[in-house]
Amino acid sequence: MDAVRQPPTGHGIDLHCHSTASDGRLTPEELVAAAAKEGVRLLALTDHDTMDGLPAAQASAQTCGITLVPGVEISARLNQRTLHIVGLNVNPQTPTLCAGLAELQQQRRQRAQTIAAKLERLGVGDALQRATLLARGGQITRTHFARLLVDAGVCKSLQQTFKRYLGAGKAAYAAAQWVPMAQAIEWIEAAGGIAVLAHPMQYRLSATAHRRMLEGFREAGGRALEVCSGNSQPADVQRCADDARHYGLLGSVGSDFHGPEQYWLRLGGAPPLPDDITPVWSRFSTPRRI
Ligand code: AMP
Ligand code: MN
Ligand code: MN
Ligand code: MN
Repeated sequence: MDAVRQPPTGHGIDLHCHSTASDGRLTPEELVAAAAKEGVRLLALTDHDTMDGLPAAQASAQTCGITLVPGVEISARLNQRTLHIVGLNVNPQTPTLCAGLAELQQQRRQRAQTIAAKLERLGVGDALQRATLLARGGQITRTHFARLLVDAGVCKSLQQTFKRYLGAGKAAYAAAQWVPMAQAIEWIEAAGGIAVLAHPMQYRLSATAHRRMLEGFREAGGRALEVCSGNSQPADVQRCADDARHYGLLGSVGSDFHGPEQYWLRLGGAPPLPDDITPVWSRFSTPRRI
């Protein structure tokens, strides 16, 4: 007997994912359609340092009958470390936020040149042109350099490109200044949004550094923690839920989906928020106009 395809049974919420406006594989339209197919009803597009994908995503969301939350994932720093601050339900027409993102985009262009020059010296030619082509007019990220290294046969996997070339301190690494965490939170607040500390377990901090990060985030006006990410194991969810309770933070849920090559992730596939954590989406005002 043929297996009957079951309808999606997830919670239908995904507040962290990427499109071709940054390092996602799908266009904003394709991403929204894919999310709808997975049963997502509430979706935030959160590209790295850009909101350029939002208008197309919004148009597609209307067609697919799902609610799009305008978002962005800001590259920030705290004590020389890079942290990602997701802004949810931001008003994309806010001048402070737009000007801030423009600065980060400028940093991305400069850093891409430095990375390309380092790769050139390592024997990888035309890296800037190739990364630019892969970025399809969106922000150039390390993911694009990673993809070109795999395409060129220099590395076997994206993981390996970070381990050998693109990770912090490696041969083709170029540091960026990004923006102080507190400033990123201010931009999000100025845009009427909620600042979420993204994938807190991915920073692999010591217990002390982890605690300091959360204290700093809270003090700077951060309001939510991404308790459930696409990569979260049950123990990670528990730890983050404990942190959310302890620091009085709302909880967010997002896959951090970039494309089908992350075969272990699905849109809407992050674990559900534990019952006693207040969902960040309960604080969203009426749907925003994009
Ligand atoms: P960037 O913001 O340009 O420095 O690029 C960071 C992006 O690279 C992240 O958002 C991930 O999508 C990707 N990334 C970082 N580390 C890894 C890794 N070890 N393997 C695969 N992708 C990674
Ligand atoms: Mn990314
Ligand atoms: Mn991130
Ligand atoms: Mn992300």
